[in-house]
Amino acid sequence: MRKTQEELAAIERRARSPVEVHAWACAICGGFLTQSDFQAAEHCRPVRCAHGLHERSGYCRDCARERQAARDAKAFEAATKVPLTDYEGEYFSFPGSDRLTHEDELEDMREELGEDGNEFPAWAFGCKPRTPSVCLDNEAEHIADVYLDEESGRGVESLPGWSDLGAAVGAFNARQKPTLWVEDRSVVVLLPPAPARGDE
Ligand SMILES: [Zn+2]
Ligand SMILES: [Zn+2]
Repeated sequence: MRKTQEELAAIERRARSPVEVHAWACAICGGFLTQSDFQAAEHCRPVRCAHGLHERSGYCRDCARERQAARDAKAFEAATKVPLTDYEGEYFSFPGSDRLTHEDELEDMREELGEDGNEFPAWAFGCKPRTPSVCLDNEAEHIADVYLDEESGRGVESLPGWSDLGAAVGAFNARQKPTLWVEDRSVVVLLPPAPARGDE
């Protein structure tokens, strides 16, 4: 688009100004920063934390671990504590672990930790199951919205086979087992120091 005379005049005025700064260069990498001299000064400067210096673009693993440990401790305080014998879940979520641990793995884990001279954790977050389920109410709402004229007063029950569908959905839902377990930080399972399960 062609610039108007007014725009060109504004550019001319600006170009005449001898000290207008539009960008700053980082003294380390030479990159141009356009927001502020502070942004340029900080660009490549390492960040100092309790563990030493680390790159600004990265993060300090120890800091991240400490922050996570603090979050875990807070969640522990707030959680319902359940002894292992009362816990109905199949999986455990140990703080610091990026995967869930199945109950069958607990004793192996205990042994491995013992061999390395490490203590078995005193607790883990619980896990809750996700079980597939079809919600007939949602389906009914969808069908009514899309296919039924509200003013006719006709409901989904009037559709052929609706009651069969209800029975089929009920039977399907009843047969489902958990397919997925997810961490449940509202529950803490207290783990005994010695084997409790599997010794019967
Ligand atoms: Zn830089
Ligand atoms: Zn740090």
